[in-house]
Order: sequence, then structure tokens, then C-alpha cells
Amino acid sequence: MCPVTSLCPSCMEEHEIQQEQVTEVNIFKGKPVEYLAKYEYCPNTGTYTASDDLIDENDLSLKDAYKKLVGLLTSKEIQGIRGKYGVSQKDFSKILGWGSSTITRYENHQVQDKVHDDVLRKVDRDPKWFLELLDRAKDELSQKAYYKYRKQAQKIYHNQRNRYLKDALEALYAKFCDNPSVTGNTKLNIDKAIEVINYLAANVQNLHEVKLMKMMWYADFLHYKKEKRSITGLAYVALPLGAVPEGYKTLLSFEDVCYEEIQYGENIGYKFYPAPGFQIKELTDSEKQTLDQIIDYFQHYSAKEIIAHMHGEEAYLKTEKLALISYDYAEKLSLIDS
Ligand SMILES: [Zn+2]
Repeated sequence: MCPVTSLCPSCMEEHEIQQEQVTEVNIFKGKPVEYLAKYEYCPNTGTYTASDDLIDENDLSLKDAYKKLVGLLTSKEIQGIRGKYGVSQKDFSKILGWGSSTITRYENHQVQDKVHDDVLRKVDRDPKWFLELLDRAKDELSQKAYYKYRKQAQKIYHNQRNRYLKDALEALYAKFCDNPSVTGNTKLNIDKAIEVINYLAANVQNLHEVKLMKMMWYADFLHYKKEKRSITGLAYVALPLGAVPEGYKTLLSFEDVCYEEIQYGENIGYKFYPAPGFQIKELTDSEKQTLDQIIDYFQHYSAKEIIAHMHGEEAYLKTEKLALISYDYAEKLSLIDS
């Protein structure tokens, strides 16, 4: 391949221009800042020169090195935050309530102040807050841009929320890792647990909280009776109204667990329905078969009837109240394991 030659500004001859990186220290805002500068080197005169583009690039490297040094976001990091939300520079400034070219300047040579830096960091880790800011700026944005940004921010928010909930549940279950008899010899699979809830909600009419919990318990225990492993890896506590999965409140907080709140006299109950677009991705055929069996058996039971049924199970009778129910009792389950 022919080397690309151009007119050298140093010796005024045509030759290949080499770029070299040099570590430099400059005083910026009273602080010595070390950064990598780029120069063009002329072997004929032995001198380093910088084109306008390189001068610009070097200044940006200096500013970014300074930002790093004093603990501010670099221009690339600011670009990254904006890019995550898919927002234009101008619109991002509007959403934050800043001058229209503020973000453009921060992504270039201007060093942001600490207050603006804190705002950008908060936007980065708090999509819910970004959504609030977005709503506040709605009238200043085009409708199309507003809806595009909102959709993206909601996606980030839901993913973050789900990850947070998953972390919380997994932390709760970490204590069971050496105790397969309470998780049915299965590592907690939250996606499967959510699918089980949706599958039951899709196939059982008027599925309320108490009945859902009991059906989940029966499904996990019946599956353990058949295959020596539970479906979800959930551990169940023996409460006065029967078995309830450990961490069930967290489980109900996932976006894909859908229910409506219904007032019963003084109390509020949850009625479950399948998540929009629900599809089975994790459950195996044999797990689905177990669930179908549980649905066939219990779908017409009232909450009272299923509680009464559970109160007759040896697993429940022999477990102290508020203790975890051992899957060893699955052997004695009243349901046949066909
Ligand atoms: Zn030269």
C-alpha cells in the first residue's frame, strides 16, 4: 500500500506525515493536568507541529483530563448519558432547563460546574426523575421527540427496577443456597416464577392472591414429587392461611406481574391477569404439564376451599407456623403424580 503523503508544514515538502502521542502537563484552572497530546512529526526538521484539528483535539484531552482529575464527568461520559436516553443535545438542555447550547458546550471544551455535574449524574442513575423532568419540558419539545424520549426512558426505568427487584430477591434467597430441601433442589429462577404467575393468571378465572399462592405451592411441590426438583426454586413459609412464597411482596412488584386492586368491604385484594403479550419462554413441557394438572384440579376452588385443602396436607400440618416448609413432604402430597 502506498503511504499517503501530504505537504509538510514544517519542511514544506511532500512526505508521509506521522502522528505521535506525547504526555504533556499543562496548568489548567490552577492545577497541573497531565494528558496525552497528539502532534505531527517531521523527520526532516525534527519538529513537532499540530494542525488546527489536533489543537482542538488536544484541548479536549486536556479538559477531559482536568474533569477526571477533579471528579467531574468527561465530555464522553456526558455524551454517554445523553445517548442512553437517545436525546439530542438541544433537547437535553431544554429538559434540564438549561440554556439551549449548554450540553453542546459541556460535550466539547467547556468544563461544567459541580451543580450541573451532579444533575447529570442523577439523570444517569435515576430514569424516573428524568421522566419527571421530561414531562415538565413537554411543551418545549416536538410531540414526536417527547414520545420517543419517554418510551426510551420508561424502558430504562423498567429494566433498572426489575434488576433492582431481582437483586433484592436473590439476596433474600442467598441464605438458602446450602439448603435444597426448602427450595426444592432448584436455584431460584425469578423469570420462571413470573411465568408461573402469568400462566396461572391466564388459565384461572378470578385468580386472587390467596389462591395464587396456594396454586404456586402445589405446583412446585407436585413437580418436586414427580422430578425431585421444584419449578421455581421458591421457598414457602407456613402462614395461618397456608403456604406463601418467601419474598412474595417483591415478586408481585415486577412489571410483568399484573393485577388490579379490588375493594372487599374494609380490605383490598388483588385480582391477577396475564401480562400483556405474555408468552412462555422459560417453562419446560413437563413443568407446564404440572401446572395444567394444578389448574385442572383447583381452578374452581374458592380461596376458602383451597385453604382448607392445604390445611389437610401433612406438609402444612407438620411444619411449625412461620417456618419454611420442607420439600421432603412432597412425597405425602394429597395429589396424585400422574
Ligand atoms: Zn517535513
